[in-house]
Amino acid sequence: MGSIAVLGSLNMDLTVAVAALPRPGETVLGDRLLTTLGGKGANQAAAAARLGGVVRMVGRVGADAFGEQLRAGLAEDGVDVSGVAADPDAPTGAALIVVERAGQNQIAVAPGANGRVDPGDVERLAAGLGPGDVVVLQLEVPVDAVRAAAGRARRAGALVVVNAAPAGPLAGQPPVAADLLVVNEAEASALTGLAVDGVASAEAAATRLGEAAGATAVAVTLGAAGAVVATSRGAVRLGALPVEAIDATAAGDAFVGAAAFGLARGWDVVRAARLGMAAGAAAVTRPGARASLPRPEDLRRLFGIELDEAGAGRRT
Ligand code: ADP
Repeated sequence: MGSIAVLGSLNMDLTVAVAALPRPGETVLGDRLLTTLGGKGANQAAAAARLGGVVRMVGRVGADAFGEQLRAGLAEDGVDVSGVAADPDAPTGAALIVVERAGQNQIAVAPGANGRVDPGDVERLAAGLGPGDVVVLQLEVPVDAVRAAAGRARRAGALVVVNAAPAGPLAGQPPVAADLLVVNEAEASALTGLAVDGVASAEAAATRLGEAAGATAVAVTLGAAGAVVATSRGAVRLGALPVEAIDATAAGDAFVGAAAFGLARGWDVVRAARLGMAAGAAAVTRPGARASLPRPEDLRRLFGIELDEAGAGRRT
């Protein structure tokens, strides 16, 4: 089995629930502060490790308590955090989240140390990469570092998974070469200019991204409507696994981490995407982000999926 290396963000999520979101200039009182581990990079690393992947995280936190907590949390999930540097000159990234009890939210992200990921970090990522390994990238760290990492990974013979989230840094820019590009509907819209809302438009967007975005395969995830995977052999529509959805947070991160786990096992992209969808569906059955990422026993209980070596990923 190949190993998985994630270059990306680590954030502390600071959340307060309120009755109604504040208007500009308004102060509202909310519930107690919730401090939870986040960052798309770190969540995806945790998602792959919880399923049994051999995962290392490369990125930056500040030399502060949040940074320590983020490293410790990933280590608890079995992720090698020796590639996570403590930057003396920037605080740990943080997301300030205000959530209305009815479900709407406002989020401001302070990237902090994530914004200082640079070629030195890419060197740490590249060290030890080989054929069969999988490198996972998102866009919450500088896009130049993401491009450099994708190039180094490909030269080492590793597979590259790019989750273009958020899509902003790549919209209108040259694509990042990837073996698998993963986007949700909003990101697919931002990258193609097409209105992506549902299976048919997702198929058109996936096909266009496959032709234009330097990606061998493209997965457009559609929440409860499942996903579309496009390769040179055409597009495949995959229906979502039916679940009772409680909280959609981190479904995308669960998908990406689990798909990377499948690719590291040598699976084809459609099989890897199916596992991603199962992980995404499992994640929406529980509240929270990191807390909702499934373990093998969750996939077994919910969907009868066995992830042992022999029957890897088969339904019972
Ligand atoms: P993001 O969090 O990036 O917006 P999605 O919401 O598209 O990502 O979710 C990723 C994957 O998780 C989907 O492709 C789907 O397979 C699964 N998923 C998400 N929401 C649900 C749901 N309500 N029911 C079943 N599966 C879901």
